[in-house]
Amino acid sequence: MYLSQLFTKTSKDSQSEASSINADLLTRAGFIHKTMAGVYSYLPLGLVVLRKIENVVREEMNAIGGQEILMSSFSPKQSWVTTGRWDGFDALFKVPAAGDAEYGLNPTHEEIVTPLVKNFVQSYKDLPFGAYQIQTKFRNEPRAKSGVMRGREFLMKDLYSFHVDQEDLDDYYEVVHGAYDKIFERLGLSDKTYYTYASGGSFSEFSHEFQVVLPQGEDSIFVSTEAEKKGKRIAINKEIYEAGATECPETGAKDFREESASEAANIFKLGTKFSEPFDLQYTDVEGKQYPIPMGCYGIGVSRLMGIVVEALADDDGMRWPENLAPAAVHIVPIAKTEDDDAYKQAVALYKKLINAGTSAIIDDRFKVSVGAKLADADLIGCPKRVVISPKTLDAEGAEVKDRMTGEVTMQAISSL
Ligand code: ATP
Ligand code: MG
Repeated sequence: MYLSQLFTKTSKDSQSEASSINADLLTRAGFIHKTMAGVYSYLPLGLVVLRKIENVVREEMNAIGGQEILMSSFSPKQSWVTTGRWDGFDALFKVPAAGDAEYGLNPTHEEIVTPLVKNFVQSYKDLPFGAYQIQTKFRNEPRAKSGVMRGREFLMKDLYSFHVDQEDLDDYYEVVHGAYDKIFERLGLSDKTYYTYASGGSFSEFSHEFQVVLPQGEDSIFVSTEAEKKGKRIAINKEIYEAGATECPETGAKDFREESASEAANIFKLGTKFSEPFDLQYTDVEGKQYPIPMGCYGIGVSRLMGIVVEALADDDGMRWPENLAPAAVHIVPIAKTEDDDAYKQAVALYKKLINAGTSAIIDDRFKVSVGAKLADADLIGCPKRVVISPKTLDAEGAEVKDRMTGEVTMQAISSL
């Protein structure tokens, strides 16, 4: 990627309109563009990161046998009337359609996946299975001031599972829990992510949220300090805490520390809440019919992009972990013309890296000051910044800065 060719530009001014750290940094770096409150477009650098997050999630869903589908964004009003959520889901966008008809613009997909599965599943032999998608959701959020962390349009991974009985659902729930732990590990968020007990509805005592501790998080969680001593990150959410559940469900201890956090994911045992109204049943060995217990498992893919920004950024800009970065290496030649040795060596390094399959950005802009180029590299946040200048060429060749640690070393260009 040649920065001179990129149609987006960076901006050094803080976004006066941006009310959150993630919106400010992502906008200034040209990763996203706000169309209107809560609605964002993803630009070349931002889309690379979003796709990488998506792929981490996809790989871990496939690893537990999840079958990927892509469901519609519109749905018939009748499906939402059937479950009582046409009027019961506050954030549901209702869209006028031809004639007198109205559509739902899907904020979640239980109303779509349940009738869909009913077409294919009849017998216990067809169960269990899980189907998931990575898809745009729409919610009429009353407040949308946390950048990509609370959109009116956002990307979610939603998995739905179908079982013969509660025990099978319980087992699968733990399998998904394990897959989510791997996802948070791969996103570099493990140390900050708490498995948080939340209210469960009528089919199980609890649901669980994966809450990432962040100073500007919208949620409050109560971290179990006793669990923490045993090396486990467990919390209960504010709703549960205020309802008087002041014991850690895993240790029984009553010591908590309140933290601000952002909910990155949520897993839930739905039981037969949706299979009953849609009459989704299976037939057992003896020919008896039962409603199908279901689970649902969401991850906020676009919210995660904001979470990673806020969890890792420093005063100079974003700091991407290697597997999410827009590029592995950001090369900054300090040169006046294309004939300068520093420029030529920088381009040669860029080409060598690309040929070797390493992603790289080269700042080949001549009209931008050195200071501005270095500031942009810090703002964009690739893990490695490589500066090649007449001075570095006189020494070992290149100055390499590790963006995460800030450590600067001189290295031979051939070693990069
Ligand atoms: P919240 O409590 O933050 O409003 P929720 O409990 O309504 O979220 P779920 O329905 O559980 O959210 O959705 C699954 C995941 O989708 C959430 O864990 C979150 O990561 C993400 N998500 C939900 N709402 C939004 C939104 N408005 N913008 C971005 N991501 C969202
Ligand atoms: Mg939730």
